[in-house]
Amino acid sequence: MRTQLLIDGALVPGGRGVFPTINPATEEPIGAAADGDPDDLDRAIAAARMAFDTSDWGRDTALRVHCLRQLRDELGDEIETLREIVIAEAGAPRMLTYGGQLQTPVDDLAFPADTAERYPWTADLGEAAPLGIATRRTVVREPFGVVGAITPWNFPHQTTFAKLGPALAAGNTVVLKPAPDTPWCAAEVGRIIAEKTDFPPGVVNIVTASDHRIGALLAEDPRVDAVSFTGSTVTGRAVMTAAAATIKKVFLELGGKSAFLVLDDADLGAACAAAARTVTTHAGQGCALTTRLVVPRRRYGDAVDAVVAAMSAIPFGDPSDPKTLCGPLISARQRDRVQSYLDLAVAQGGEFGCGGGRPGWAHRGFYIEPTAIAGLTNDARAAREEIFGPVLVVLAHDGDDDAVRIANDSPYGLSGTVFGADGERAAGVAARLRAGTVNVNGGTWYCADVPFGGYKQSGVGREMGLAGFEEYLETKVVATAVASGTER
Ligand code: NAD
Repeated sequence: MRTQLLIDGALVPGGRGVFPTINPATEEPIGAAADGDPDDLDRAIAAARMAFDTSDWGRDTALRVHCLRQLRDELGDEIETLREIVIAEAGAPRMLTYGGQLQTPVDDLAFPADTAERYPWTADLGEAAPLGIATRRTVVREPFGVVGAITPWNFPHQTTFAKLGPALAAGNTVVLKPAPDTPWCAAEVGRIIAEKTDFPPGVVNIVTASDHRIGALLAEDPRVDAVSFTGSTVTGRAVMTAAAATIKKVFLELGGKSAFLVLDDADLGAACAAAARTVTTHAGQGCALTTRLVVPRRRYGDAVDAVVAAMSAIPFGDPSDPKTLCGPLISARQRDRVQSYLDLAVAQGGEFGCGGGRPGWAHRGFYIEPTAIAGLTNDARAAREEIFGPVLVVLAHDGDDDAVRIANDSPYGLSGTVFGADGERAAGVAARLRAGTVNVNGGTWYCADVPFGGYKQSGVGREMGLAGFEEYLETKVVATAVASGTER
């Protein structure tokens, strides 16, 4: 099977031919993806610009709502095809495709469509006489124009639809540049848009490419009004720098090193089991997963034992098996990167409670065992840097203040968890965390109407929810002079 680019409403081959996409569970190629080149990107941006500047897309809310609902329905009709692709291409455990890896982001396209339908696009501030001139003031919310959307491989559909949905609902046109590791997921969305929906030509363009520079060119292009990026903090910094030349709006969802705090009155076994399950979900390849477990010092040994027991029971292996929670990493490069952090942890005095490398049975596939690391402090690199694997660093705290200090002693601020028997006390600790999303005793913040994003180097702006929709809107004020109660 081969995929195609979506440019100006047409499915077209890539200027650089094709590149293979690899199944991370087997290391076998699963097919060929269209390899877009700078000329393809140039045409995609030109088409998006033309669609925004010369069509009614940005003003026709009813058309946008119709197209988005149609897309949601058509994706729903092809959900089984999309499911097999995301399992084969991203190594996504099948069970997660019924939630955040596929079904939920598709269903969640309803939210931006509904929001656009009922959104107050204009607000009348009434008359006033600033500087002595009687004036009627109206605030108008408008789309930015052309949005460049750049996505990672770990949750390809979630990151794609959390951008396409609100950006399009708000009236923008889009050029999407997916990660080279998961081009098929995006290309299938492009095919469905081209073949089965009424999106006007140029409104959505999708350029898959093996070369990361296509993303860099998109970020710096002066015809692009805003860049919405999800990926690593290092690349986010490069995107921000590239976008600075044309002062474009930049929206960033970046990395994390989130803490799971266990207070001294908590059910330690339940907390450690939850932490083990969280960090092994999709082999730890989730930006908001909690990767530092911070437990009371006097219960440290029991906590490590509980984590090891829970990790040993995690269903680990073939992502197509419906019971699997922890599948492979995306690539040999990521597996080697995770392994280098494990080696570094040992070099800095850490010990493996369990795991520590490739499982003996994995002669093929980019697998790393669920791993618990004990014996480190929060200044070790494995405790400070994003590893992006099924790796939990267990740290000790000396009370609530110390636990908060450790959680906040990080360049990141994406997420956090607090477990404690006294709900009020746990909520008080949660309130002190410098992070965009916090769960208390296992609550779930991931939902279409909930804004998601990071503090500090975890990002700029919010995705999803009303805040995520408004990220894609400019604000214009129209001030009309009035005389004797009549506009002139
Ligand atoms: P990455 O930063 O390597 O790549 C992300 C995307 O940026 C890819 O499409 C890539 O081709 C593109 N890119 C690479 N160099 C570029 C450049 N100079 N200019 C513009 N685009 C460029 O990230 P990844 O390895 O694909 O994904 C893993 C990272 O994503 C992790 O750090 C993870 O925490 C983060 N992530 C964050 C969130 C969030 O919402 N905060 C969600 C998912 C993943």
